[in-house]
Amino acid sequence: MDERKISSLLCDYSRAVGVSGMERTTISTKLRSDLSNYMHTDGDILGNVYGFMHGAESTPRILVEAHMDEIGMMVTHIDERGFLGFRQVGRWPTESLVSHPVVVHSDGGDIPGVLGITCDPQSGQQGGISLVTQGTKPFVDVGAHDRDTAREWGIRPGNFISPWPSCKKTVDGMRIFGKAWDNRAGVALLVALGRSLSTVGHPNEVVLAGISQEEVGKRGIKVAMNRLRDIDVALVLEGILGTDTPRMDPERSTDSRLGYGANVMLSDRGYPWLSRFVQDVAQCHGLSCQPSVGYGGSDADEIHVREGGIPTIVIGVPCRYIHNHIGLIDTVDFANTTRLLRHIIIELDSATLLRISGH
Ligand SMILES: [Zn+2]
Repeated sequence: MDERKISSLLCDYSRAVGVSGMERTTISTKLRSDLSNYMHTDGDILGNVYGFMHGAESTPRILVEAHMDEIGMMVTHIDERGFLGFRQVGRWPTESLVSHPVVVHSDGGDIPGVLGITCDPQSGQQGGISLVTQGTKPFVDVGAHDRDTAREWGIRPGNFISPWPSCKKTVDGMRIFGKAWDNRAGVALLVALGRSLSTVGHPNEVVLAGISQEEVGKRGIKVAMNRLRDIDVALVLEGILGTDTPRMDPERSTDSRLGYGANVMLSDRGYPWLSRFVQDVAQCHGLSCQPSVGYGGSDADEIHVREGGIPTIVIGVPCRYIHNHIGLIDTVDFANTTRLLRHIIIELDSATLLRISGH
């Protein structure tokens, strides 16, 4: 895939709407359609998407998954002046909420709005003082004259609210600012990998899965694992927090840098023999990668304890500012990670799995 196609794929997936719980009508339709170009696909009630790629052998059966959902909000009430109360679906830091543009997915269609906060006009400072730190809740302002207007526009409690889509390249064109890189970077990897594998043989069966509702308690993967039986090994694709930002703890600052290749997680439910294999594959093919000891959870939490235990690894693209509105990603990292995944699949045969899992 050339650089232009990578940028276009990434921006398409960054812009796609898919707050946890509404994937079925949005992001999952897009992913299923894209995977269908290369393989047989299926779906389920929660919106999970499955693509099946048959190789020369029926084992090992490799699950490659990425959660599709993004953090957003839901309307809880409309006040008499037409402002919307909301609760978060997933979680941004509270200080990230104010002044960001959003889209309210009302019964009458998509409506633009902004996350507002009431400031103290008596503070003597220009613009007043934000009251977020004093516990004042932000709200969504859609510009309605009053509650009746908002209702006429189709706004109801329960409507999802998503961050305003935005995608811009850096001056050199190598990096992209966009929303929801956690985990649209991972979802775009599924498509790039499916496309790449469609032109080569591989000694295994691969299931590429887009998973719903990770950000609200890893719900989609539970349903997926009920359905997908006899998985021998799992690769969990993620957008992983870039730690190369100012004032980051130096002990962590080498963990995840933009431009240094795929994150290969040694923690996060890692399986040491699998992470060793992945690093060996990267080294063998001259692909830079970053063994990382990170924090936080992922769908790997659910996968590695299924059946008799499944060797699982999280592999990701470093992204600055995950769980905020706009993040930054490097297209070279994305291309490197795609190549790494392709080599892993091509080399992961029964004998290799035996060596990794030790039985
Ligand atoms: Zn994630």
